Amino acid sequence: MRIILFGPPGVGKGTQAKIISKDLKLAHIATGDILREAVAHGTQLGKKAKAFMDRGELVPDDVVIGIMQDRLKESDAKNGFILDGFPRTLPQAEALDKVFDRLNIRIDKVVSMEVDKEVLMNRLTSRRVCRNCGSIYNLLVDKLNDSKCTKCGGEVYQRDDDKRETIERRFEVYQNQTKPVKKYYGAKKMVTEIDGIGEIDEVANRLKSVLN
Ligand code: AMP
Repeated sequence: MRIILFGPPGVGKGTQAKIISKDLKLAHIATGDILREAVAHGTQLGKKAKAFMDRGELVPDDVVIGIMQDRLKESDAKNGFILDGFPRTLPQAEALDKVFDRLNIRIDKVVSMEVDKEVLMNRLTSRRVCRNCGSIYNLLVDKLNDSKCTKCGGEVYQRDDDKRETIERRFEVYQNQTKPVKKYYGAKKMVTEIDGIGEIDEVANRLKSVLN
C-alpha cells in the first residue's frame, strides 16, 4: 500500500504515520524528519535546509525532490510506504508522478487530515519532540518530568519552527503552496478526507477504516 498523508502543519500527520506504518508494516517517509536529521548532523544538506526551516519556509523543490528520489529507492520502501509532508508543492507532486512512472508504481490513496487553524495553533505551540527517538508530546495533555521523554528518557524540546511567528508563516506557506496539491490529487479522485480532531487512537481508527 502506498499512501500520501496530507494536511496542514500540526494536524498530526507524523503521529498518525508512525502508528499506521507500524500497524500496516509500511515505511514511514517524512521529509521533515529527514531534513531535521541532516540539520542535526550538520551535513551539506542540513546546512542548506536550516535557514528555510527556521523561517517556516519550504526547502527548495530540487533539494527535496532529490531526497525523495533517493529515499524511495531504499529497500524498505518496496513493500509500501506512507509519505508524510511530501509532496508539498505542485512541482513536487509532478516530480513524484514521474518517479512513480519510472518505477512502475502508483499511489493508492491520499488521505487529507482536516482540523481548524485555531486548534492547530494551540497544538503546535504546545508540541514538544524527543531529540532522541522523535516521540511527539503535547504539553496540554502529556505529563513530562524534567522535559524527559517517557519512552526513552531523551531530551524533549520545542522545534524552532513551532514558535508562534514561524507557525503563522508555515500556515501561509501551506495555504499558498501546499493546498493546491490537494486539488491536484482531488482532480484525480484520489483524496479522502478524515476529521483530525480527537484522541490519537480515535483518529488512527478513522484513518485505518478509510485505508481498509
Ligand atoms: P514538517 O516536519 O513536515 O512540518 O517539516 C518541517 C520543515 O521542513 C518545513 O517547514 C519545511 O521547511 C521543511 N520541509 C519538510 N518537507 C518539505 C517538503 N516536502 N518541501 C519543502 N520543505 C519541506
